[in-house]
Amino acid sequence: MTISRIIDDNTVAAAKNLIEASSNVVITCHKTPDGDALGSSLGLAAVLTATGRHVTVITPDTPPKNLMFLPGADRVLIASRFTDKAKSILADADLLFCLDYNSLMRIDRLQPLVEQCHAPRIMIDHHLDPEPIADVMVSYPKESSTCMVLYRLLMQMGWADRINSDAAACIYTGMLTDTGNFSYNSNNPDIYLVIANLLSTGINKDDIYNKVWNTNSANRLRICGYSLYRKMQLFPDHSLALITLSREELNEFDYVKGDTESLVNRPLSIPGIVWSVYLREDEPGFVKVSTRSTGSFPVNTFCERLFGGGGHINAAGGEFHGSLSDAIATVLNAAPDYDPYLTSNT
Ligand code: 5GP
Ligand code: MN
Repeated sequence: MTISRIIDDNTVAAAKNLIEASSNVVITCHKTPDGDALGSSLGLAAVLTATGRHVTVITPDTPPKNLMFLPGADRVLIASRFTDKAKSILADADLLFCLDYNSLMRIDRLQPLVEQCHAPRIMIDHHLDPEPIADVMVSYPKESSTCMVLYRLLMQMGWADRINSDAAACIYTGMLTDTGNFSYNSNNPDIYLVIANLLSTGINKDDIYNKVWNTNSANRLRICGYSLYRKMQLFPDHSLALITLSREELNEFDYVKGDTESLVNRPLSIPGIVWSVYLREDEPGFVKVSTRSTGSFPVNTFCERLFGGGGHINAAGGEFHGSLSDAIATVLNAAPDYDPYLTSNT
């Protein structure tokens, strides 16, 4: 079996031309970077750096601690902390990558900086309904991760053998995290052909698994335990689970970003629960919404309609400006509207 070539030749040629002409590259990814956002950014950075280019990865905000093992993570420029530096580096860039996001809204305070940057742009992404924000759009929503799209692009450019072990570790991490350790969106045989190639660079996938999933702080374990024991509400009539955490509760556990990563997935393991909503009161008057589902239940349309967000059919998010109790009411009032999706789900 060989990996299929799904990226059209014109797109590959256009991306390759821009890359070959570049010497000062900036790579950006979405806010609250996850394994796929950071993995694709650092994976591409490793490949381009090895070809002698000057490369800076700029994230809108601080990456989570459990991803700091990724090669190059310590050199990421965090725009919210070093805004002026990010501005000047973007001003000097001759090529800008937009990785793992489909709209400039997703890069938060980095948006005005990117808008002022006049370098040509290449998008590499797998989110639905991409906005035309780049000169070359390598956008494949059917792909399970941006890392997978990145691998395909490098392969079709004839650059697969430039993926060294640092790049491979990053790319593998994104493939792993965006499929929940290959437990969803993961039936495409190409995924495993890519993994075989990445392993041949010498990476240790078991070690990566442990670093990504099996590394917890005591606080993280406690807040997850508390959330499941005390804060998970089930609404069997709507096949819905709801977890909410107030600012006060987050403070009680010295919450740091990432502590409740993947918590929203847990209720889906209960038979009969088809969708799960997690509301986190990040600041008084601001609630982050995170949702997951199984089968054909579209949490992305739910998040779009009610929380100005979006995402994938089974994993989406959004934001709520208001009190936590109003956010809860918004979810529960809307839940009956989504009952029709349950019948097609069983
Ligand atoms: P998470 O629940 O892990 O924060 O996000 C899951 C997915 O939902 C992300 O990969 C992203 O596609 C989408 N998502 C999360 N938050 C937002 C948001 O505020 N706006 C939009 N458009 N998508 C989001
Ligand atoms: Mn992704």
